Amino acid sequence: MDDLTTLTMTKVCTAQLLRKLQENIERACMKIKPRKSRSISIIKGKLSDHRFHIGEESIPTVSEKPVKSLVEHLRKEVASGLENIDRTLLPGKLKFWCMQYGLLPRLLYWKGYERKWLGLPRCLSSIGFYGKGMLHLPISSLVEDYKCAKVRLELMLLDLSDPFVAHLGHRQAKAALRHKDIVGQVQEGSSGLGLGASTPMVVQEVRREEEARRCAQAVAQAKQGQWMAWEGVKKLKISWKELWEMETFRASFTIRAAYDVLPSPTNLSQWYAEDPTCPLCPSLATLKHILVGCKTSLTQGHNTLRHNQKCLAAVLESRRTGVNALPPRHPSGSQHHLFIIRSDSRQLGRARDWKLLADLNKKLCFPVEIAATNLRPDLLLWSASLKLVYIIELTVPWEGAVEEAYERKRLRYAELATDVQQQGWNVKVPPVEVGYRGFIATSTSRLLREMGMRGKFHRQAVKDLSVAVEKGSQWLWVKKKDSA
Ligand SMILES: [Zn+2]
Repeated sequence: MDDLTTLTMTKVCTAQLLRKLQENIERACMKIKPRKSRSISIIKGKLSDHRFHIGEESIPTVSEKPVKSLVEHLRKEVASGLENIDRTLLPGKLKFWCMQYGLLPRLLYWKGYERKWLGLPRCLSSIGFYGKGMLHLPISSLVEDYKCAKVRLELMLLDLSDPFVAHLGHRQAKAALRHKDIVGQVQEGSSGLGLGASTPMVVQEVRREEEARRCAQAVAQAKQGQWMAWEGVKKLKISWKELWEMETFRASFTIRAAYDVLPSPTNLSQWYAEDPTCPLCPSLATLKHILVGCKTSLTQGHNTLRHNQKCLAAVLESRRTGVNALPPRHPSGSQHHLFIIRSDSRQLGRARDWKLLADLNKKLCFPVEIAATNLRPDLLLWSASLKLVYIIELTVPWEGAVEEAYERKRLRYAELATDVQQQGWNVKVPPVEVGYRGFIATSTSRLLREMGMRGKFHRQAVKDLSVAVEKGSQWLWVKKKDSA
């Protein structure tokens, strides 16, 4: 046991709790170190300097002895480094040089921690970590930010031909350097000093170049750059809020799975020369084999698909009931119904008699009024008044084979679609896919939009579908050694 945090409402409770804690901890032959602990008490919203004791010794308050942290240390390091550079009598250009080759490498020393904090292996390339490719993490590269900041300043100094203004610019550059955060926004609104709107564009260009450089590197990486070949897959963007809500293992699993750096037997064989075969069958146990090809994955993969079908059916069902419950459509777009017409979106809004059938608990029987067939698509959505039917089939493929899965399903229902058309119906066959690692296909996103799901609802539906598959994959990963 290492750290312990307690929180109570009153002084008496805290004193009592501390007494009890000390008793129990002593019984376990351990010791509390009051000197290394901190206390903070807030009375009616104000900081009080009330002290608590453990045995005879008192616990210092936070205001007496502030808590030292790595971030604090780093900030002091940056501030003192910048001050030292600034105090020298070197010309401005050399000061920049000092910062680039003196201070920055020392900051980059902390780089290794970022991966450690997210539970990622050291071999994960910076492309995966900072790149804005398929998986978009809310982390930006220190080098990239530094380059941008540098370009902003350089531009400002270069553009100034008037010596008086240049002097001013220099002063501003120094002031900007002293800015608390060296990677922050610098002098964007300084058009008064002879700068046009070109600065932000150039800075954007720097970011684009950095991204292009990362992409070029990714192409050369056989394993971690596999995502470059994925087609028809939407980017997965993880915001700070989402990262905050994810359990640590899930976040780490998502990133490691996307770049194939999970400790699968084939990876372990590459790293430590361990046995690369699957514990359950004689094949090589790559991540794809564990999630898609092995016998456990075949049964569990089916469950994941079922689960996702339910998820998609629930999304469409709520949308269907919502639309059907709307007031009847007005034949002409008169002004009284402006609101309703706006809330009607795309195809779904055009009718109020939508019906949905899902091939879930009981077998889906294709309605005879549409066509007679033995095929059982996952979901069937139709409106008799519009004579419009959607035949929806959901697949969970490997990310690299999304387009293939889409074409396969399309062909499978092509004949049925012609039959239905001959009965006088308009038919749409949108196969939808969600990859094993939680990446949504563009086809899925398109269908949701066609169903009138925009903005917040769209994002939520996409997230639900993605999480449902990812959970299944995570389960398979954890159970990779158990027999089915
Ligand atoms: Zn296997």
